[in-house]
Amino acid sequence: MNLLIKGGRVVDPSQNIDENLDLLVVDGRIKELGKGLKAPADAEVIDAAGLLVTPGLIDMHVHLRDPGLEYKEDIITGARAAAAGGFTSVACMPNTKPVNDNKAITSYIVNKAKAEALVNVFPVGAITQGSKGENLAEMGELKEAGCVAVSDDGRPVVNAELMRRALEYAKGMGIMVIAHSEELALVGEGVMNEGFTATELGLKGIPWAAEDVAVARDVYLAEFTDSPLHIAHISTKGSVRIIRDAKARGVQVTCETAPHYFSLTDDAVRGYETNAKMNPPLREAEDVAAIKTGLADGTIDAIATDHAPHHLDEKDVEFNVALNGIIGLETSLPLSLKLVEDKVLDMKTLVEKMAVKPAQILGLDRGTLKAGAPADVTIIDPNAEWVVEAEKLASKSKNSPFLGHKMTGAAAYTIVGGKVVYKR
Ligand SMILES: [Zn+2]
Repeated sequence: MNLLIKGGRVVDPSQNIDENLDLLVVDGRIKELGKGLKAPADAEVIDAAGLLVTPGLIDMHVHLRDPGLEYKEDIITGARAAAAGGFTSVACMPNTKPVNDNKAITSYIVNKAKAEALVNVFPVGAITQGSKGENLAEMGELKEAGCVAVSDDGRPVVNAELMRRALEYAKGMGIMVIAHSEELALVGEGVMNEGFTATELGLKGIPWAAEDVAVARDVYLAEFTDSPLHIAHISTKGSVRIIRDAKARGVQVTCETAPHYFSLTDDAVRGYETNAKMNPPLREAEDVAAIKTGLADGTIDAIATDHAPHHLDEKDVEFNVALNGIIGLETSLPLSLKLVEDKVLDMKTLVEKMAVKPAQILGLDRGTLKAGAPADVTIIDPNAEWVVEAEKLASKSKNSPFLGHKMTGAAAYTIVGGKVVYKR
């Protein structure tokens, strides 16, 4: 597993590096970054001229549907989609069947991933038993078994007192809580963003307040308990403002958004496009603008896909009954690179949000090309042009609103522990 990656533009925010360098990998770990490095006799040499060399990208929010819902995706296919998208690590949410709220399920995921997955898979355990919002799950046991965070993602912890205790226990346990912040009473029977488009389409709306009210509650609970909290998939301008203000007064809150929230508005729903149905829903132009501002000013720490595979039969139905969620692992990189093209972010800041920060938030010893770190490396061709085609996607499910869209940028090589697991 010795590799010399020659002549690429190395972008590693963890060391404040953005320059043309060689990268030497020995025995699955980063050995050295430098100019004119010589390849050891047994090393494979990759010519990275014209390509970006970054710490392996980390997607801290995916749904691998395994165990129990493998007709949508499984750990192997999900990991293959991650590798094709340039991700060397993913964190998978616990809303499997059964829910990952105990060490048996966590161990199943860890063991299957170790044996068969192309990338690192880090399970997220449930906050409450069965994610039912009634009794806390055994967080110590989950952490011991390999969970890197806890979340009831897919639904909020409705009871604020229970959320308070979750934050307190998790703090004591040294495990991050990831909030799915949503006020269900305000969501009601809504199926898309509440606004002009929903009215035109005659669909019931979900107001921005359904997100903002819940984000505010969770931020205040983090402040009150003096605990770290990560908020998943923020989509509204109000969420950005609430989190910006909280950070300014020292609350230990971090957050992520997903590529669709800075790439699309609720206009994408027109035509009753079920592949544009997700939760939280696509919002309006001013929300998209606020998400970009939040990424640029550091309010939004990470970009995560919320990769949510669904079978065609669950999407090829009337809009009201179609399931929420889209796949994202294979389109995240080009959609995110567009932020650099559009001068919203510089390359270093983008890599920070796709590798460094996710590692820090989850407490992983990755997201860096420092000597000694596991050799998780993504080599990116920023100029590769391609079209999103269902039959070419590695994911088992094809529910993407970007099918048929032209993309610029792709992973050229994905390297996990010094091993090339994907080559374009
Ligand atoms: Zn969620």
